[in-house]
Amino acid sequence: MALVVQKYGGTSVANVERIRSVARRVVERKKAGDDLVVVLSARAGDTDRLIALALEMSPHPDPRELDVLLATGEQVTIALFSMAVKDMGFEAVSMTGYQAGIITDHQYGHARISWIETVPVTEKLREGKIVVVAGFQGYDDEGNITTLGRGGSDTTAVALAAALKADACEIYTDVEGVYTTDPNVYHKARKLRRISYEEMLEMASMGAKVLHIRSVEFGMKYNVPIWVRSSFTEDPGTLVTQEDADMERVVVSGITYSKKEARVTVTDVPDVPGMAFKLFHPIAEAGINVDMIIQGSSAVPGRANISFTVPKADYEKTLALAEKVSGEIGAGYVHGNPNIAKVSIIGVGMRSHTGVASVMFNALAKENINIHMISTSEIKISCVIDEKYTELAVRVLHDAFELHKDPCNGIRVAEER
Ligand code: ADP
Ligand code: ASP
Ligand code: MG
Repeated sequence: MALVVQKYGGTSVANVERIRSVARRVVERKKAGDDLVVVLSARAGDTDRLIALALEMSPHPDPRELDVLLATGEQVTIALFSMAVKDMGFEAVSMTGYQAGIITDHQYGHARISWIETVPVTEKLREGKIVVVAGFQGYDDEGNITTLGRGGSDTTAVALAAALKADACEIYTDVEGVYTTDPNVYHKARKLRRISYEEMLEMASMGAKVLHIRSVEFGMKYNVPIWVRSSFTEDPGTLVTQEDADMERVVVSGITYSKKEARVTVTDVPDVPGMAFKLFHPIAEAGINVDMIIQGSSAVPGRANISFTVPKADYEKTLALAEKVSGEIGAGYVHGNPNIAKVSIIGVGMRSHTGVASVMFNALAKENINIHMISTSEIKISCVIDEKYTELAVRVLHDAFELHKDPCNGIRVAEER
């Protein structure tokens, strides 16, 4: 008998029929003898609808009240699902984040789980019940309801699996696993059998929304095997696990894209110590997350141009802050572009192989796609391009690195340097 935490995403519980079909699936697993904790998302579109509703009420919704509102989406599905299971003759109990002991910090809208009090869930499991937990929500040490950020139900599931020392965590979604790139963008995307936590973390951070970033962090920290599967088929899916010798030995294992960022440039910044601090300190103080930063020399001697990216949602605010600082420090002018995208290639094999960047740049150049910014880490290279070329860039990079070919058939296993 195993303890399994399963999570079903919004499309899997989008309506009454789908909730019933997921309930059937869960009940079959229970009949087979496993103990089950089921984490559910809100119905597809519900969280978006709640956000729109809040914006209708207030242009800047109070963060605490917004979380109270958003947390209701998941409360709908856990209740409906538990009704369905009970109608099938099995015991189930729905639990909100509060009832399930999911304690977070105070950051409304993007709270981090700090502790899980497991007693309430384990007690219900001991009673033989299927425990149905609302994803995406918790509460802080003052009892306020918090939410974990968009896509956060994955994190609820993996964190619960870690805290309960579950045998496995299964994430059920609308695709059959983790692919070499978003299968909804390129039909040649290939499903991976296994992927390391490290690569998955990089893919999630670079925009592959199939898993919430922090769910992968939890998985990696507590060594929780994460299976990503479809709730519509019986395919075994992808296992996210520790890197091992059996893993595909390839240089590049995935391509990601993100349209969520915007670029800001400050020209002719005086090239003296302390300027970067003066520019970025107020941005950090405003809680804005800066991603790429590039400083290059300006045509004016003793001056530098600084470009950086921020979340699109913070673009206007960042421009205003940058303009203020620019005036104070006597820099040139501030300009930006919210219509950019970041495409990234990811693979642990990049650590030991050279020439990867030039393949990437060549593939983009052949399509006349201009690169505005580049950033690299040990296992990834990202390029900022015009947003309108995103899908094209993903496809040409996928082709350039031949990701459609299965390396286990001996086609793409690269030589070590
Ligand atoms: P859920 O609602 O089940 O949490 P999400 O929409 O959050 O589902 O995540 C699944 C989606 O992630 C897929 O429909 C797919 O478009 C997208 N996706 C992006 N990159 C990848 C990838 N590399 N592999 C699989 N899916 C991906
Ligand atoms: N319902 C939340 C969202 O749409 C959380 C989730 O689905 O994981 O972002
Ligand atoms: Mg998701």
